[in-house]
Amino acid sequence: MKKVAVLGGGASGLAAAIAAGRCGADVTVFEASDRVGKPILATGNGRCNFSNADIMSSDYNRPDFVQAAMNMLPPEDVLLFFADAGLLFRQEDEGRMYPYSNKANTVVDVLRMCAAEAGVVEQCGVAAKSVEEAGGRWRVLFEDGTCDEFDSVIVAVGGGPAKGLVPSDIRYKKTHPVLAPLKTDTKAIKGLNGTRVKARLYLDDDGKVLSEAWMDVVDPEVEQAYQGPETYGEVLFREYGISGIAVFDLSRMVQPGNTVYIDFLPDMDPQEKVDYIYGQVMTHPNRTAAQIMSGILPSNVARAIVVAAGLNPDDVILAEQEVVVLAMVSESFSLEVKGVANPKQAQVTRGGYNVKDFDPSTMECLSHAGLYAAGEALDIDARCGGYNLHWAWTSGILAGVAAAGGSMLDGVPLSDVMASAMAGNAAAGAETGVYVSLPDGSQRED
Ligand SMILES: Cc1cc2nc3c(=O)[nH]c(=O)nc-3n(C[C@H](O)[C@H](O)[C@H](O)COP(=O)(O)OP(=O)(O)OC[C@H]3O[C@@H](n4cnc5c(N)ncnc54)[C@H](O)[C@@H]3O)c2cc1C
Repeated sequence: MKKVAVLGGGASGLAAAIAAGRCGADVTVFEASDRVGKPILATGNGRCNFSNADIMSSDYNRPDFVQAAMNMLPPEDVLLFFADAGLLFRQEDEGRMYPYSNKANTVVDVLRMCAAEAGVVEQCGVAAKSVEEAGGRWRVLFEDGTCDEFDSVIVAVGGGPAKGLVPSDIRYKKTHPVLAPLKTDTKAIKGLNGTRVKARLYLDDDGKVLSEAWMDVVDPEVEQAYQGPETYGEVLFREYGISGIAVFDLSRMVQPGNTVYIDFLPDMDPQEKVDYIYGQVMTHPNRTAAQIMSGILPSNVARAIVVAAGLNPDDVILAEQEVVVLAMVSESFSLEVKGVANPKQAQVTRGGYNVKDFDPSTMECLSHAGLYAAGEALDIDARCGGYNLHWAWTSGILAGVAAAGGSMLDGVPLSDVMASAMAGNAAAGAETGVYVSLPDGSQRED
């Protein structure tokens, strides 16, 4: 029986421990804090957006590595893992998966039940200090001065792992917080604190091309040529800058000094924006610029756009060119980025152990057999929507199975229990879309 240490009892650590335990290993989870599963409780505003129905490797910063891992453990099989665990779940907007209970605690409860059933031992309040090779085995040194030896060690300590935890030849990418609110210049957004809008955000990669699009009033072809990063969703204005899901997603691509553009009317193309505003001016010739825009957007946002367009909010609109400028600013309201507003609010840390040093199908270190890493400890992150936790489960299960010397079918056992759990999901109206992987590599939809 293989003796396996899992360092970190968060999302990837629990998944790894369960998979290793199910494959027959003698598994201990060493968790630095007072209980396992704590980081999961804070996710999804306490609801745990644990996966997504539409997981693509292109949603991650290391798509090739993630794709290779997902070839071994497809996203559907991760849902199967949870159905098997006894978790009833459902799909919400944009494919986001939540426990049916709407409580992150339920996810932790089922993971802990599975861990106990697989014989996993939890040791809390025990922080690992370093991991070193010891005659073909692995010695883990703990902060309290004790140590123990294992056949395999899975490092699942989360974002910003200590460099010195693993052998020094494992390459390390410098870490920084992402999925976070952004600090911006605030002159143009004074008075907007607390206001939420649905918008498109994009960067200044090709700002010149975009401004040229507006020179000839609007040239849709030039407009469509924009290939830079963009995100859609909620933007929440703050005293310090901007927050909200669209901003969190953009924070993965932005550098201090970049200009972020807000398109307040992402459902209209430039010409439609001009035509609509012009139509309003023709219909309501006595309304001021702020009043015209207040029929379209929240009144404080409307005023901010008019001011940014260089017009007096209390004047009526007289010239056609003023309409064009208003349309242009409602599509490209610009804010200069100063940086991440509060690193403590970041959901994910970019950086960590370089994926080039790990095998994507097992998460084993290429230069150190028996040493594995999973979850955010590896330099992998994704946008909001359940993708980061999905990576934690995927990498954790793969590492757990391999560390125990098992195979994927052992790690994700296909049983009648699973079928009944899935039937339960279906009966509750959950859109699980679960597929069962068959031994010959084909799939059956249940
Ligand atoms: C507020 C918030 C909300 C989020 N919401 C979502 C969401 O809804 N959906 C989503 O997909 N992602 C979400 N995330 C991201 C997601 O939580 C992480 O990507 C995921 O938890 C990473 O899993 P992990 O196992 O790598 O690390 P973690 O889950 O962070 O677990 C690491 C564990 O290791 C322990 N540890 C650290 N060092 C040591 C050590 N030396 N020895 C022993 N133990 C150690 C820690 O105490 C911790 O318990 C959110 C993150 C935050 C902060």
